[in-house]
Amino acid sequence: MHYSIVAADPAAHLFAVTLQIAAPAAVGQIVALPAWIPGSYMIREFARHIVQIRGESNGRTIPLKKLDKHSWQAAPCDGPLTLHYQVYAWDLSVRAAHLDQTHGFFNGTSVFLRVVGHENASHVVDIQRPQGAEYDQWRIATALPTLRAGRGAVGTYVAANYDELIDHPVEMGTFQLATFKAHGVPHEIAITGNVPNLDMVRLSADLKKICETQIAFFEPAGSKFARQAPMQRYVFLTLAVGDGYGGLEHRASTALICARADLPVKGQPECSDGYRTFLGLCSHEYFHTWNVKRIKPAAFAPYDLQVENYTSLLWLFEGFTSYYDDLMLFRCGLIDQAEYLKLVTKTINGVLLGSGRGKQSVAESSFDAWVKYYRQDENAPNAIVSYYTKGSLVALALDLTIRSETKNKKSLDDVMRVLWQKYGRDFYATNDTAGRGVTEAAVEALFDAVTGLKLKRFFDRYVRGTDDLPLEKLLASAGVTIADERKAVKPGLGARTTRGGAECKLLNVYEGGAAHRAGLSAGDVLMALDGVRVTANLDVIFGRYRVGDTVTVHAFRRDELLIFSVKLLADTTPQLGLNAMQGPDTAVATRNAWLAGRHSR
Ligand code: ZN
Repeated sequence: MHYSIVAADPAAHLFAVTLQIAAPAAVGQIVALPAWIPGSYMIREFARHIVQIRGESNGRTIPLKKLDKHSWQAAPCDGPLTLHYQVYAWDLSVRAAHLDQTHGFFNGTSVFLRVVGHENASHVVDIQRPQGAEYDQWRIATALPTLRAGRGAVGTYVAANYDELIDHPVEMGTFQLATFKAHGVPHEIAITGNVPNLDMVRLSADLKKICETQIAFFEPAGSKFARQAPMQRYVFLTLAVGDGYGGLEHRASTALICARADLPVKGQPECSDGYRTFLGLCSHEYFHTWNVKRIKPAAFAPYDLQVENYTSLLWLFEGFTSYYDDLMLFRCGLIDQAEYLKLVTKTINGVLLGSGRGKQSVAESSFDAWVKYYRQDENAPNAIVSYYTKGSLVALALDLTIRSETKNKKSLDDVMRVLWQKYGRDFYATNDTAGRGVTEAAVEALFDAVTGLKLKRFFDRYVRGTDDLPLEKLLASAGVTIADERKAVKPGLGARTTRGGAECKLLNVYEGGAAHRAGLSAGDVLMALDGVRVTANLDVIFGRYRVGDTVTVHAFRRDELLIFSVKLLADTTPQLGLNAMQGPDTAVATRNAWLAGRHSR
């Protein structure tokens, strides 16, 4: 398969793609574009952005028949088949494709048609920048292996199969670039966007710490594979915008979107919350290089890119990755113990906020990700649980359970390493990945085998069930207390409202709260409380009221003014705080071992 992709018309946001198929199927070659992109579990129907497609063979037009919303079949032809098509690229996210005068970005799932039946052949791609002198400075950043280096933003790349082809997003433009080595492996970070005085030196140094810590986590010193990274090269593709946050993992790269303000400024050495968040995102996506890009659920080995792929294991692949992303920041020295505990506190409070956690387990949340977690509406806090945040608490609880039951001889780290050795290390050894994924049953059996414990009850209650994790007891075993840090009982509405701006809109109404009981609904815009205009000043207004007071609320629902009598209830927003204790010695020793990833003999 030979593709060429040209950033043909930046102003119209069009990539032009040519696909040459040397030996099309005799009955008529079928081609299809994926319906989703691995790592983002939602049907997106990328083929809807194909604007025009035509076929030719030996100079003759070959008719194409549309088979379904993703697929075409070419009429039978004698010689090689060439398809020409354009892709509209105007999605400023890490999941699709984007092209304008400032840069081009694409995922293979948005632009490369799959040649059905030839998925395991090698796939060659020529990538070209737009025509014109104004694009002379454009370069390409991608982890796709190079076949031939081109001049400027022209290059030829090769992938061993279609799965590899679509697992290397491509950025083109005038990005800022830095390189570093992590345990000998070249890493690049490309930052696209207008970011003055960006401290690339600091960014590289900090990322290097994260990467080396993770490489050594999965392949510790002292073995045949000591400090061996799973990839030859790695690229952080980053788009900096005014406001944005997100990332998508790939086998040798990640596509990130962040707020410009989160990136470090030259001459300002402090670590802002925003920069810590960005480093946490990098750490998260990098951890996926092992956990989900190589250790994979059986349902993803291989992916079926046309339909939903159901797995109930995302609590492990996303939740555990969320647990380790911040822990790795501590282990590589970028944050201290107090800062780490603050991040855990935030997760605990976030999970406790929604009553949905009592209705959906993390296993169910994972299975239904396609229609629930990825398609959240205003009722989400009352209906679902996040396999990211609760999944990370499952990881924390398992880590502390294993450490306390084995007297620090074993930990979750050991389980991750055995998962890696058994399922991940050789995942891409050959084209055929069928049978290399891990099943739900195998995960649990592996936990018991590695730790010597019987953890079925834990999985029943906290993974398949909806019980809250016993964190108070477990954290106490590591010398960490949980306490309610609420200073006083304050009245609350039991709703999340818009922040800033001139109006106060209810975004979520929490089940059982004052707003819910009074009949207010998500989407309602509060106009006045006891005759006083409400804007973004709700906290100030509540300052004059007590729990139990009844107030009159005027609110617009769509364009109709409604009046509610609201009895104010105590604000139940969780405000737990975690604190490290000075003793007893065994608990402090456990905490130090846990945070540092050390074990007792
Ligand atoms: Zn993730």
